[in-house]
Amino acid sequence: MLEISNLVKSYAGERARRGGSQGARVFAVNDVNLNVEKGEMFTLLGPSGCGKTTTLRSIAGLEKPDSGHIGVKGRTLFSAGAGRKTVNVAANRRGLGMVFQSYAIWPHMTVFHNVAFPLQVRPRGQRVGKNEIEQRVHRVLEVMELRRYAERPATKLSGGQQQRLALARALVIEPELLLLDEPLSNLDAKLRESLRYELKRLQRELGITSIYVTHDQIEALSLSSHIAVMRDGEVMQLGKPRDIYENPASKFVAEFIGSSNFVPGHVVGRSGDTYTVDTQAGRLNLTSAADMPAGTEVSAAIRPESLELTTARPTDGQNVWEGVVGTRAFLGDAVDHLVRIGKIELRARSLPNVSLEPGTEVFIKLPADKVSLVPID
Ligand code: ADP
Ligand code: MG
Repeated sequence: MLEISNLVKSYAGERARRGGSQGARVFAVNDVNLNVEKGEMFTLLGPSGCGKTTTLRSIAGLEKPDSGHIGVKGRTLFSAGAGRKTVNVAANRRGLGMVFQSYAIWPHMTVFHNVAFPLQVRPRGQRVGKNEIEQRVHRVLEVMELRRYAERPATKLSGGQQQRLALARALVIEPELLLLDEPLSNLDAKLRESLRYELKRLQRELGITSIYVTHDQIEALSLSSHIAVMRDGEVMQLGKPRDIYENPASKFVAEFIGSSNFVPGHVVGRSGDTYTVDTQAGRLNLTSAADMPAGTEVSAAIRPESLELTTARPTDGQNVWEGVVGTRAFLGDAVDHLVRIGKIELRARSLPNVSLEPGTEVFIKLPADKVSLVPID
């Protein structure tokens, strides 16, 4: 559906912009490759400044990349660089739906007409009847919880409502490819959560292929069919939400999506995907898809909720370490215990009914399939 290869977009660096000639260029997007299938909710996730918006704007045709290729359903939208034919289709000829962080609504129209307008101005062949327009507009207004404001001037909406209106307006045309740049970021937490599910349902029902940009890991995990985790203009890891969460390939990904303990160690043995790793806290047996030969310095990454904390010694003694509770924190739906094991400290997350006094001697089990191996840096 959407294919992006070797996409590069750079800007003049700070010094060059101030008139100097030596400023290094900033690579906002640095050799990005993506392949999005029809019907996907594909998310670009990463911290502020990692190149998400620039990638999205390049797809939309609002930014001219330095080089690379962008194609939708076999049609080239952009192409440039060594050995490539130069193509750059204008934004308004790309046929994409867009909702950006800085949304724009039509101020002189009512809410209803804001949403109906894109349907009314369609080219002759694609126009739909008045009744169908009404139905479709009401349906998306309903989903966006805007139905009761249908007759209100669009300017008499709150910021959050205007953002939902922008979303409704993009959805109503049921575009083949919908580009969403942090569309929920101006909403309060409750509304953001409910809209997240509505968006997912709607996207599925309408079969719209979407590229979703966010810096919010929960949003990315809950909405996406696939996630590309970006950093400094590059895709660090690409996969299904669960795969990325359970098998982060780097410290960056393990920390950016969720939180993780890292235990330094080195590989002492390997047979296929079964590893033996010696760490400062003890030996670990684990399975990992990583490719690390014996002798490699590694970090064993394990999520706080994957650690099993008990006061009685577990019957299966593999990957069991002994430690002492340092501090604990009640989080409402969970309790975190910081457990000291020799020189290292691990954070273990338990159900809220487990609460152990500081000083309690405990056993910590690290399930073999829950530990990931990542490079040390
Ligand atoms: P994100 O959306 O992930 O926060 P952006 O794509 O907006 O990141 O920006 C990526 C990088 O490119 C940042 O370092 C940003 O400062 C830089 N950048 C973006 N737009 C411009 C511009 N018009 N001029 C110069 N630098 C830019
Ligand atoms: Mg952005």
